[in-house]
Amino acid sequence: MYMMRNKQIVISGGTSGIGLATAELFAQDGAEVLLIGRNKAKGLSAAQKIQQLSPGSVFIQADLSTMQGCHNAAQSIKRRGREIDVLVNAAGIYAEGRLGTVTEIEYDELMNINVKGTIFLTQELLSLMSKLDASIINIASDAGVNGNYGCPVYCASKGAVVAFTRGLALDCAPLIRVNCICPGDVATPLVEKQLVSGNYTLAEMTKAYPLARIGKAEEIAHMICAIASPLNGFMTGSIITIDGGLTAG
Ligand code: NAD
Repeated sequence: MYMMRNKQIVISGGTSGIGLATAELFAQDGAEVLLIGRNKAKGLSAAQKIQQLSPGSVFIQADLSTMQGCHNAAQSIKRRGREIDVLVNAAGIYAEGRLGTVTEIEYDELMNINVKGTIFLTQELLSLMSKLDASIINIASDAGVNGNYGCPVYCASKGAVVAFTRGLALDCAPLIRVNCICPGDVATPLVEKQLVSGNYTLAEMTKAYPLARIGKAEEIAHMICAIASPLNGFMTGSIITIDGGLTAG
């Protein structure tokens, strides 16, 4: 469907939520998928699932919030001796907090994984992406374009991913296409945690959406695979919202 047979795909945050749904779709399409995540047990179980579709797929454990972690993950990938066709930067966290209460530790936690990890994993892997029409897809958020209530630092982290995408797309053309997806709320473990820690219910969250529901991880995964597909070769530097109409008005 996406022309991914025998391609090698790296997905940071590939062990859960949007990243895992994306790994499944790429694997179904014949690609070998390398899943990077923090948690070993979760990662091995995700890899087992993906290996049933694509036996060469593996889990790589790394903490991408540090440059050393990005370097270690990249070294494991380089040892495989293959070029990368697609890099999906999906590793990320969400945290609420009005500006008056945000601490330096909370700021660092958000920025280190959402921004630093995205930038330095990409830097580490660029040398493996020398094929024409290689593709990088970053996951930002509607909050990185329009802003959301009660999470200005998260908004800032995702705004940085949007701007990084645009700048990198210019620097990497014409070889590598670089695009960014901005989802609204999507049913994943990240949103499950948000609903536990926030002051609102799923029904309240859903009310904001013209399509009267939040997204499914498979819907975001489909868009990531479609962007990466060689059938989509003219798209670079694009920021694509998938948010059930949340930002349409
Ligand atoms: P999730 O919690 O299900 O998955 C997050 C993944 O990131 C996990 O695989 C985890 O291991 C990985 N990760 C987190 N910190 C890491 C670290 N320090 N090192 C390595 N890996 C790390 O979340 P999700 O909903 O699938 O989110 C994926 C991306 O989409 C995130 O960047 C998130 O900000 C973004 N996003 C999610 C939503 C949503 O509503 N779910 C909306 C907009 C944007």
